[in-house]
Amino acid sequence: MTAIAQQAARRRTFAVISHPDAGKSTMTEALALHASAITEAGAVHGKAGRRGVTSDWMDLEKARGISITSAALRFEYRGHMFNLVDTPGHADFSEDTYRVLAAVDCAVMLLDAAKGMEPQTLKLFEVCRHRRIPVITFINKWDRPGREALELLDEIEERTGLRPTPITWPIGTGGFFHGVIDRIAGQSVRYTRTPGGATKAIETELTPEQALAEIGEDWERAKEEVDLLTEIGSDHDQKAFEAHESTPVLFGAALSNFGVGRLLDAMVDIAPAPAPRPDVKGDPRPLEEPFSGLVFKVQANMDPSHRDRIAFVRVCSGRFERGMVLTHAATGRPFATKYAQSVFGQERATIDEAFPGDVIGLVNATALRPGDTLYDGPAVEFPKIPSFAPEHFWTARVRDSSRSKQFRKGIEQMEGEGVVQVLRSDIRGDQSPVLAAVGPMQFDVVKHRLAGEFNTEIALDRLDFSLARLTDAESAPILARQRGVEVFTRTLDGALLALFTDEWRMRGVLRDHPDLVLEPLLADT
Ligand code: GDP
Repeated sequence: MTAIAQQAARRRTFAVISHPDAGKSTMTEALALHASAITEAGAVHGKAGRRGVTSDWMDLEKARGISITSAALRFEYRGHMFNLVDTPGHADFSEDTYRVLAAVDCAVMLLDAAKGMEPQTLKLFEVCRHRRIPVITFINKWDRPGREALELLDEIEERTGLRPTPITWPIGTGGFFHGVIDRIAGQSVRYTRTPGGATKAIETELTPEQALAEIGEDWERAKEEVDLLTEIGSDHDQKAFEAHESTPVLFGAALSNFGVGRLLDAMVDIAPAPAPRPDVKGDPRPLEEPFSGLVFKVQANMDPSHRDRIAFVRVCSGRFERGMVLTHAATGRPFATKYAQSVFGQERATIDEAFPGDVIGLVNATALRPGDTLYDGPAVEFPKIPSFAPEHFWTARVRDSSRSKQFRKGIEQMEGEGVVQVLRSDIRGDQSPVLAAVGPMQFDVVKHRLAGEFNTEIALDRLDFSLARLTDAESAPILARQRGVEVFTRTLDGALLALFTDEWRMRGVLRDHPDLVLEPLLADT
């Protein structure tokens, strides 16, 4: 194995997908605690009063108590380098979350034991399915009264279509969480809480005799259930897991650190390492090729004292060395990486080298956009990250016309970062672009950031559209004449977008004009 392949083999790059409140930040902290966190790239989470690196680049974030930035946390465990890419938990930031999933090789689906599959979890799961990202399920909060374990498995199977294959099984329920049976090692493990869960939980291996004597009935019941699982064929199957047909399941309580170590072990043992990533031609780029990376997130002005723009890049092949001059595939221009970082926000640290799977932050990344490729040596380009169909549309206008120039710059910046898509039309003119987003909170972000970073107050007005479809130059004039329809050009790529008040309106138009070109924005889902 080459040195680069060896480095790649010991990388695990993943995201935690969950519904708000399922315990993602608690889990993130627990993971970092179990491992030894090397660097914390930006916000682990921004909940007021919580531990973790709070990124204070935006007052809005504080006021809402949510984390808007996504960043990567690096830590080492059992000789493996983990890159945990943070996904913003709030439903409104879903587009950003989707992009983050383009950078990972595996996802941990975190469920609340009392709630099971919740809407946001399912939405994110759909992205994993689309990208065929293997999913490990962690059922959290087992220390609290929740649902039956078998019932939760049924729900997972029904909602995701994946066969759940528990690799641990809980002993005890509803406030009496004694430990787990590790189905792979064939062991019973008892967990003992340490004060506040602040340090690792104490794990004791029990022989069957000890388990029977010390735990009794709960253990016997767990044992019977484990036998049942084996009978119905719910054993871990590596191929099925990698083929996105099954999901290994673990039980635990992140708050007391129960089961977190076993999740890390599962990541080391079964989660996929970085693999060759297909380029635009569909040819997988071997890991040993010269450096290539995919920009999956761009963020500006994170730190008021460093007015800059950071691009987050997932290394896809080769070895990254700080100082390299790379090529930006979209423009063919050189890009200097003198200021590569693994940490940003309040604390910054430079990163000197990185390997496939690692996430690096590049500063001064004015020209980079999410989905862009950077490479060294012969040209390569990775497919664009599909942009998700916006469902909310607002017009933006500058309040003080002497600030028009800043307004234009600000909107351009928001577009470049992918905060919103920008739509224009002759009818509405240049002064009044339409902003489009997956979630409505993005508009607050735009307003807030234009005021804070560009000193420009804007007025936003909601438009009565909820559906966008791609169209072409022939269909556009016909569509423009229909009631409840308006046609725009998306400035980022020049695509023609028809906006409809709702699905019903679109069907009506299609009934009268069946030959119109109207395609969903994410063509391959
Ligand atoms: P997030 O919104 O998904 O990041 O969720 P948080 O990590 O902020 O957790 C939401 C709430 O659930 C917090 O009050 C946590 O203390 C609590 N919580 C998280 N994990 C556990 C757990 O394993 N057991 C219990 N009892 N509570 C938990």
